[in-house]
Amino acid sequence: MIKNIVLLGATGSIGDSTLKVLRKNPQSLKLVGIAGYSRWKELAEIAREFSVLDVGLFDEERCAEAKNSGLFSPETRWYAGAQGLRDLAVLPDAHTVVMAVVGTAGLLPTLDAIKNGKTIALASKEVLVKAGKFVMAAVRKHKVNILPVDSEHNALYQCMHGHPREHVDKLILTASGGAFLNKRLCDLQHISPQDALKHPNWKMGPKVTIDSSTMANKGLELIEAHWLYDMPAERLNVVIHPQSIVHSMVQYVDGTILAHLSPPCMTFPIQHCLLYPERAEGVRATLDFSTLMQLEFRPADPQRFACLRLAQEALRHNGVAPAIFNAANEIAVEAFIHASLPYLRIPNVIEETLESAKTFEPTSLEDVLDADLEARRIANKVVLSYIRG
Ligand code: NAD
Ligand code: MG
Repeated sequence: MIKNIVLLGATGSIGDSTLKVLRKNPQSLKLVGIAGYSRWKELAEIAREFSVLDVGLFDEERCAEAKNSGLFSPETRWYAGAQGLRDLAVLPDAHTVVMAVVGTAGLLPTLDAIKNGKTIALASKEVLVKAGKFVMAAVRKHKVNILPVDSEHNALYQCMHGHPREHVDKLILTASGGAFLNKRLCDLQHISPQDALKHPNWKMGPKVTIDSSTMANKGLELIEAHWLYDMPAERLNVVIHPQSIVHSMVQYVDGTILAHLSPPCMTFPIQHCLLYPERAEGVRATLDFSTLMQLEFRPADPQRFACLRLAQEALRHNGVAPAIFNAANEIAVEAFIHASLPYLRIPNVIEETLESAKTFEPTSLEDVLDADLEARRIANKVVLSYIRG
């Protein structure tokens, strides 16, 4: 049976890797819907190559421009704005929705897709970080499959598959340590966005690359793992593994540890999600053990990586604290890229926002959205105080 795929975030880094998996598997996967933020010329190329007729653009002006460009098939059905993403997520003939938009724009479309019984291939980690409680409740209620694209969670999924959950003792997420692993904290004073945008192993979008360098990304991933696998903070560990070959590990109660290995390339987890439960030849060659390979592991120092420590504290606190962590981090990273917030102030913005914002147990999605807005307001004020000195 051929599976129809909707890809939200088609012009991004995960989008690009997803297209590689689709090209490799035309006999089992068909792209039926795509969306991006504003880059419609790239969407036009994708639409042409994969004969896609359902096309969405978040930016409504660009959507109108695209419609009149003559670069899309005249039969194209258009989906504009936030509602457009939601409509694409529930296309009647879609089997799997790949959620790969950056930030939280994917939250409502994910919930809609779940309610409509779609399988979710989830890359957008912010969706669970912000609203894991409600997203996972919907997953259970509608009995849908949520397959993690994020390489660590995909690795954990594969290492736990077929094992009784009560046998699992700990989840161990690996972290590359990002671009500045071997620099001293005092040398990070004058880091520029260009420096932070160079990842040693992975080619990713700008937000997640900067988050990798501060390890806020690993913090978000701990929160994501908490929701996906119903694990308390104290059973979620992080270990630094600079080569990004072991993508995560599961420790069982008898001390056995299962690890998942592959080259650092997102086509591996994406293909797993799209073909699941089938498997087929991968997009690229796997590891070659006939050549020298070194795998290193070292502890993650919470003092050195303040963003990771703050995420762990937010997770222990739970309620809306993880959403506040996420919102403050988004504002801080944005200000680092565009408003010259010093790199080392990113954790300060998060910490001060977590201290000032009200934390409580959300009883509805609106509670989370309100907490998110409030956190952004506070974080913006903190950013201003640092920029103005
Ligand atoms: P990216 O910046 O390269 O791409 C983001 C995509 O989302 C683009 O296609 C953009 O047009 C689209 N987009 C952004 N806002 C949108 C909106 N409001 N409506 C419609 N489309 C919108 O980012 P990326 O690296 O591909 O990451 C996407 C998500 O996957 C992020 O949540 C990230 O944390 C997660 N993730 C990425 C990687 C990776 O290797 N890149 C790994 C794990 C998880
Ligand atoms: Mg990851």
